[in-house]
Amino acid sequence: MVKIIFLGVAGGRYATSKQLLETGGFVIKTNERTIAVDPGAGALVNLAKNKIDIEEITDIVITHNHVDHCSDVNVLINGMTHGGRIKKGTLIANEELFDHENSCLMKQHVDWFDRIVKLEKGKQVRISNDFGLEPIETKHSISGFGIKFFFGNLTIAYSSDTEFSKNIVGQYKGSGVLILNVMRPRDLRVAGHLCSDDVETIINEVRPKLTLMTHFGIKMIEANPLYEARRIQRNTRSNVVAAHDGLILDPESYSADGPQSMLSEFLASVKDKPIE
Ligand SMILES: [Zn+2]
Repeated sequence: MVKIIFLGVAGGRYATSKQLLETGGFVIKTNERTIAVDPGAGALVNLAKNKIDIEEITDIVITHNHVDHCSDVNVLINGMTHGGRIKKGTLIANEELFDHENSCLMKQHVDWFDRIVKLEKGKQVRISNDFGLEPIETKHSISGFGIKFFFGNLTIAYSSDTEFSKNIVGQYKGSGVLILNVMRPRDLRVAGHLCSDDVETIINEVRPKLTLMTHFGIKMIEANPLYEARRIQRNTRSNVVAAHDGLILDPESYSADGPQSMLSEFLASVKDKPIE
């Protein structure tokens, strides 16, 4: 069982500051894990709104040090570990998050995890028997990573914040589900982010069984993400969903239209590579 729960689907400085829609990233739940991904402003409140017990969280993933991706991380850690009394869970984040003078993450909270995984280019990581991951390159205003998640026979590629590049899209291949941060509608490109037209190109290249769009900026919200998703779906003849606040989705309920990578293959492949 894998479920994706969108805590908030707005992103970027303006839409987050004005709370045009909710913010706070998303959660992936499996039988064994509850993974909070990019817990930006609003994650704590929206976990409660969506009836996800903070103590259930087993892993926190932070792709980069922008406040709309990590500003609630400390309150989440405080809640999930009972203020550090129960050391537990895995923190998965890129190097910059551990530069505590300049990052959202408080130094004292790092010790409250069982395990720390620093994301590095090309480094595949096995987290548990039902969960592995691999960083994906991004092209954004600061350094960070997207993430390829492996669960059983389901592979989910999460773009994080990035602009389009052929090389980056090549890394999404083999994924059954894409979660794309789409800041802008149509062809209204802005440096460091995807727009709807980029999503069409990505889908045509990767042919996933399902694409989920989230992290909408003000121009995307004004254009209405639902209309954007419908147009992309029509043009690509592929399943495309514009996420909304509180959306709970079972990606395995969508039928596959192409082969995808499996956790077992991933685990076999990490044997000869660094495992943390
Ligand atoms: Zn960002």
